[in-house]
Amino acid sequence: MIPDDEFITHKNVPGPTKEEIRCLVMCKSKVSSNDIVVDIGCGTGGLTLEFAKKSSLVYAVDKNLDALNTTEKNLKKHDLDKKVQIIHSDALEALKNIEAFDILMIGGSGGDLPLLIEESYQKLRKNGKIIVTSILLETPVEAVRTMQKLHMDIDVIDVSISKGRILERGTMMFAKNPITIVTGKK
Ligand code: SAH
Repeated sequence: MIPDDEFITHKNVPGPTKEEIRCLVMCKSKVSSNDIVVDIGCGTGGLTLEFAKKSSLVYAVDKNLDALNTTEKNLKKHDLDKKVQIIHSDALEALKNIEAFDILMIGGSGGDLPLLIEESYQKLRKNGKIIVTSILLETPVEAVRTMQKLHMDIDVIDVSISKGRILERGTMMFAKNPITIVTGKK
């Protein structure tokens, strides 16, 4: 995994997804070298870069131009730009122009989540996965309900990570926001 502090960041762009969370997402995705990945809401590019290292092609989608510029800078910095196609668009619009894929990563959807999952399911290859990461309580519920309707195999984990900071008197643990990761397999 790329360390968090090796990413170029931008004040208007969330991310990168913390290293430990990226690690779990990659593990759940079971991505392989021939896979085509779509990263909806690429933000800083945290997950886009990790998927670019392990797959054949990544479509990085975001509606925020600052996010795409930041992702592009990070891709160049890590020499991964050749494997990624950047798309400046809303999630649903972007999907219309992509044929088929093996992994759909949803890191931001802005309210369209059930529709987004339903539309993308059609283009998801057999054994493909839809992964939703969320900081909001409602999002995983929506994701699970929609995936159930589609008869997907569902896995849900809630991740609470504390990181130690070495102080003079000892190591103090600082809690990070809990993140929920929902994975649906076709
Ligand atoms: N996984 C990223 C962080 C994602 S932050 C990383 O590791 O760096 C979520 C992103 O989703 C934001 O950049 C936001 O602009 C984008 N987003 C939210 N709703 C969207 C939508 N409907 N279409 C496209 N992008 C969207």
